[in-house]
Amino acid sequence: MAKKMRKVAIYGKGGIGKSTTTQNTVAGLVEMGRKIMVVGCDPKADSTRLLLGGLAQKTVLDSLREEGEDVELDDIRKSGYGGTWCVESGGPEPGVGCAGRGIITSINMLESLGAYEESEELDYAFYDVLGDVVCGGFAMPIRDGKAEEIYIVVSGEMMAMYAANNICRGIVKFAQSGDVRLCGLICNSRAVDNEKEMIEEFAKKLGTQMIYFVPRDNDVQRAEIHRKTVIEWNPELPQADAYRGLAKAIDENEQFVIPTPIEIEELEKLLMAFGLMEVA
Ligand code: ADP
Ligand code: MG
Repeated sequence: MAKKMRKVAIYGKGGIGKSTTTQNTVAGLVEMGRKIMVVGCDPKADSTRLLLGGLAQKTVLDSLREEGEDVELDDIRKSGYGGTWCVESGGPEPGVGCAGRGIITSINMLESLGAYEESEELDYAFYDVLGDVVCGGFAMPIRDGKAEEIYIVVSGEMMAMYAANNICRGIVKFAQSGDVRLCGLICNSRAVDNEKEMIEEFAKKLGTQMIYFVPRDNDVQRAEIHRKTVIEWNPELPQADAYRGLAKAIDENEQFVIPTPIEIEELEKLLMAFGLMEVA
């Protein structure tokens, strides 16, 4: 019997570390023998740079614009680190069109070209989705059931938590009619006071867990300059182990919930309580 492919989406505020965390974690899953496709759903098209050793040459939307209906799987899907499949959906030209539509066009394209069935051995599809709730576009992958497991990257900074809470509202809206579930918060540290404890508490209020605490570490940038994940660049580093830990936590996770978003006042109270607390 074919095993079921896990459809994971990584959400979070812009700049919070979605693409970095996704690719580094995927490298950890590759070490565990998992077969993975990563689909970048951000017009920046930088979701697969560390796995490909440089920016993807062409996005799905570029290919569609240039080749019309003649697009082939090899035009849009490149093989990256450890046999991962890498795709960038790309975006509309600045100022026109909806980014969300690009995402859905890309996923439909991948489906019709057989990217999912052909790679029958795929264990995971990861969608790295721009997370600012500016339009319905961000919700496309979860609305259409393309992604079922959502992880939110967050830090102890207010705007990151605010965005995470909003994303939870989006999930609630689609969870009732579909299979989408929140599977945890990934704390990507900004070295805020009491950050770990605060995000653990925030997660509890949202009805979920803090699945992992990823330390802030300059080795992430050092690897990035070399266009590599930390695991590929220097597997001995402590940060490489952090990403292995997150990979294992995701691989073993069984906590799938419909989240319980909180009111803005409650969020402010949480920030105040932990911000004013003595640093442990
Ligand atoms: P997003 O995809 O959410 O917009 P990125 O993954 O591009 O964000 O991350 C923004 C920057 O933050 C990256 O250039 C990366 O170097 C840095 N970064 C992310 N996570 C960490 C970390 N744990 N430690 C140090 N730097 C990080
Ligand atoms: Mg990104």
